[in-house]
Amino acid sequence: MFNKQLQNNNIKPGGYRMNYTDTILTDILIIGGGPSGLATSIHLADIFKQRGQNKRILLLEKGRSIGSHILSGAVIKPSVFKELLPDVDISEIPFNAKVTKDRTIFLTENSAFTIPFHMPYMNNNGNYTASLGQICKYLAVKAEEKGVEIYTGFAVDEILYNDGKVIGAKTKDTGLDQNGHQLENFQAGTRVEAKITIFAEGTRGSLAKMLIKKFNLDRDRNEQVYSLGCKELWSVPPANIEAGQIYHTLGYPLNNDEFGGGFIYGLNDNKVSVGLVVGLDYKDPTFDIHDALQIWKSTPFVSKILKGGKLVEYGAKTLPEGGHYAIPKLFTDNALIVGDSAGLVAMPSLKGIHLAIRSGMLAALTIADALSKNDTSEKSLQQYEELLNNSAIYKEMYPVRNFRQGFAKGLIVGGLHFGTQLITGGAGFFGRLRSHADYTTTLKLSELKKKPFKERFKGKLEFDKVLTFDKSTDVYHSGVFHDEQQVVHLQINDKENFNAINIEQYGAPEQFFCSSEVYELHTDKAGRKELRIHAENCMHCKTCDIKSPGERITWVVPNGGNGPDFQNM
Ligand SMILES: Cc1cc2nc3c(=O)[nH]c(=O)nc-3n(C[C@H](O)[C@H](O)[C@H](O)COP(=O)(O)OP(=O)(O)OC[C@H]3O[C@@H](n4cnc5c(N)ncnc54)[C@H](O)[C@@H]3O)c2cc1C
Ligand code: SF4
Repeated sequence: MFNKQLQNNNIKPGGYRMNYTDTILTDILIIGGGPSGLATSIHLADIFKQRGQNKRILLLEKGRSIGSHILSGAVIKPSVFKELLPDVDISEIPFNAKVTKDRTIFLTENSAFTIPFHMPYMNNNGNYTASLGQICKYLAVKAEEKGVEIYTGFAVDEILYNDGKVIGAKTKDTGLDQNGHQLENFQAGTRVEAKITIFAEGTRGSLAKMLIKKFNLDRDRNEQVYSLGCKELWSVPPANIEAGQIYHTLGYPLNNDEFGGGFIYGLNDNKVSVGLVVGLDYKDPTFDIHDALQIWKSTPFVSKILKGGKLVEYGAKTLPEGGHYAIPKLFTDNALIVGDSAGLVAMPSLKGIHLAIRSGMLAALTIADALSKNDTSEKSLQQYEELLNNSAIYKEMYPVRNFRQGFAKGLIVGGLHFGTQLITGGAGFFGRLRSHADYTTTLKLSELKKKPFKERFKGKLEFDKVLTFDKSTDVYHSGVFHDEQQVVHLQINDKENFNAINIEQYGAPEQFFCSSEVYELHTDKAGRKELRIHAENCMHCKTCDIKSPGERITWVVPNGGNGPDFQNM
């Protein structure tokens, strides 16, 4: 599909080599090859064809291939695929298995209780298990068949402006050493100028973040809040679980302050996808979601499913959970935001794939109309928001607009809020509930009244490398790779305060919340502490950009093609 040569040598179909110093002109530039970006490109190509218009659509993806940076559960709602690909039989789409059994389990340390009903919005009847990476590879083939130009291994790190308006984006300069000095193989990034640029970078998009800040697009909106999901793909003996059997777990090892739960999705070929998703508004600065996943796997209920099996892949990613009130304004002159970058995830079902696709389709319609009118101004692109507000996305997100904020004060209070929201169509007793950014919720070590994570799970954190794994073993199963020669892509803002506050007062929570053992707290002989950064391990989960107290770490995109190399996540 994606000829390696095309990616590595940057040669376009037809053999024309992109010149890095040139500016490339296109009608549409899409940044990100996940479901939202691919759906935008497919639907646009279809609309242009129907309207007899010949337009250039260019999609850039930082992963070395489509899918290599894609991680999801996933249980997918299929109906939107019929709208995106009306000529395709659904059996052609590489879903995995139709859901045949769907249970929610409440876990304690040693027992499991099946909840005898579906939690509201959690019914998965008619849905499919899948590897989202495989689905994206399939969508990319469809997009290319329709004439979309897809370039993988291109990290986009700069938004281009003219007169204060977006006019495209630029790929990252390569061939720099760790201090930013040019090496012999230096190549300036490519400027891609477009009539409309679509930000489809997924969760906590680094460019979308800049765009939102520059144009104040989140004015009057709630703070976006996130969860981190750590996931393992296993191969297990056939009797352990059937394809299509899915379980969600609540309870252990999380406590009242920690929002989240586990998932177990049975896949074809005796594979099973298991993971733990935890809200990043937790308080304990020593809490470690990767290690909590290992403890969760050790419970009798989960370990029975994994018994005799083998770890195949590991990965981690955040997802936006703030819901309706945290969606920023999604348009400005010449630019739109789609999918997770726009905060389009339906809580409490924790599903975003179908919304990412639908937002891409609505963006496509808006773009096609704007180009027909030759008007790509903010006023013209406002159509996107109108379409969203009249779409199934709004219908799904609005009734649960207060769901996640209700859980900010713990599970018991959250349950009460949710009960009132169910009877009042989402309003609850208090109307709009506010949220707090995740980087503000961590307690200082001196404020922590409960046992820190390691004491709480004493005796359970020695990993046997059969059922449970330390971070470095898991990271090894992600295919992660980063060029040594480049400026470290994890930037500590304000180093002095970082040491005085993040290390001294919070105990360097970065070393615990990072899903992939990037941050190490080093103490020298004189007792001086510093945070060492092993950027080569980075899974691009974006947790540090979200959770570091005082927002003292910024994640910027590393060289194109760097990062994990997921196969079936
Ligand atoms: C653990 C977990 C479990 C989930 N389970 C489910 C589920 O069961 N069902 C469900 O419906 N949803 C689920 N979701 C949510 C779902 O995966 C997302 O909503 C969906 O993937 C969003 O699609 P997207 O296209 O917006 O972003 P993504 O899928 O994240 O794709 C974004 C793409 O953009 C690329 N990119 C980012 N920045 C740049 C850049 N600067 N330059 C170039 N390329 C860039 C990335 O590499 C990536 O390939 C889950 C999410 C997680 C984390
Ligand atoms: S360094 Fe940041 S983005 Fe990378 S894996 Fe760790 S927490 Fe995630």
